[in-house]
Amino acid sequence: MPHANDLSDVIENDRAHIWHHLSQHKKYETVDPTIIVEGKGMRVWDATGKEHLDAVSGGVWTVNVGYGRESIANAVRDQLIKLNYFAGSAGSIPGSTFAKALIDKMPGMTRVYYANSGSEANEKVYKMVRQISHNKYGGKKHKILFRDRDYHGTTITALSSCGQPERAAQYGPFTPGFVEVPHCLEYRSQWGEVSDYGIRAANAIEEVILREGPDTVGAIVLEPVTAGGGVITPPEGYWERVQEICEQYNILLHIDEVVCGVGRTGKWFGYQHYGIKPDFVTMAKGVASGYAAIACTVTTEKVFEMFKDTPDDHMSYFRDISTFGGCTAGPAAAIENMRIIEDENLLDNVNNMGEYLMGRLGELEGKHTAIGQVRGKGLFCGAELVADRDTREPVHESMAAAVVANCMQQGVIIGMTNRSLNGLNNTLCLSPALIATKDDIDEITQAIDNALTTVF
Ligand code: PLP
Repeated sequence: MPHANDLSDVIENDRAHIWHHLSQHKKYETVDPTIIVEGKGMRVWDATGKEHLDAVSGGVWTVNVGYGRESIANAVRDQLIKLNYFAGSAGSIPGSTFAKALIDKMPGMTRVYYANSGSEANEKVYKMVRQISHNKYGGKKHKILFRDRDYHGTTITALSSCGQPERAAQYGPFTPGFVEVPHCLEYRSQWGEVSDYGIRAANAIEEVILREGPDTVGAIVLEPVTAGGGVITPPEGYWERVQEICEQYNILLHIDEVVCGVGRTGKWFGYQHYGIKPDFVTMAKGVASGYAAIACTVTTEKVFEMFKDTPDDHMSYFRDISTFGGCTAGPAAAIENMRIIEDENLLDNVNNMGEYLMGRLGELEGKHTAIGQVRGKGLFCGAELVADRDTREPVHESMAAAVVANCMQQGVIIGMTNRSLNGLNNTLCLSPALIATKDDIDEITQAIDNALTTVF
């Protein structure tokens, strides 16, 4: 296993020059940054030589096939030597090969537009919707609905569609034309106790459409299972009704699979659990498991056709470019990533281990009153922590953070809804790699068990 590195230079240079993502600026004045130097399978080692079991796939639901995959590294290396880059107006062998493989997993979809990140893939859709609005509806149907507690990325326009207030705070003014609809977490019902919460939450979308005027609304963006907003699995009947509403009001359905995509929930894509027929699907993190940067915006032929034969013929294409989008290393890594998921039957593993993980979390729920609710789909689970089970009063985020920190001390990395939801940063998040075994899950849940006992 890896040896401890000489830390002093690394830490000094990090402190002097690195602007860390999502970290309080004063944090590293008092503690050393964790420098991760190596990974293999489900585990990573930091620069002190300490081993960690990673229950969040690289911190943010990304390394779906696990660390240290030489075959992906070799595929990328071979491709880079052959051809590292050419602009996306031309084709490439890995770009075309991966697009076909991906479309084969997505009945009803036909076109792949490459980008670099989830935020960018989502913005491509927003631009497509706006262009359709201009081409087909004289500027009407330009509004895009998004949902409370969902997240779609970090750019100003992606944040304009952000249902997590703390993420968006201080970055306005935002891009106009984005309108929020209510979340669908029954545990935090906005309508008290209702017998058909899923239908009620979907009908709330219709209410917003009617308020705004159906002729102004072009699309809605939704996560199939809300990720950073608290691992929100959809209530019964929700998706069927959402689909009906979209069809009734001619609203394009954009499914953000940046987290759920590529096996995380036990199917290739999260929407495939719910019989959804999307017009757009975006994906990023698990597409190449972090071995290369790649994101995809996938659409139907119907959407693609809307860009042909527009009234102003020289504008009959999507006038968008992304220098590195589809850059050959990304699809080369993605092809091998997909092969691994298929050859190692990882979707079956996700379903089996997901069920096992939910069972273990259920046992913890029986033991610790601090757990208010456990939610999940496949290897994508959350445990919402409460100060009082009856009133469902959320714990302060410092308590959830203490559980995360305690697990880290034990050598297990877990996550939480973090700095995103006013007063509701209280859900522990788990998304181990799709290769997780029972032993890994036992180790993860044992660490959480210990942490909950210590913290509460
Ligand atoms: N969409 C969802 C659901 C996400 O969780 C994220 C990031 O966490 C994004 C989009 C943005 O992806 P990226 O960070 O690659 O821009």
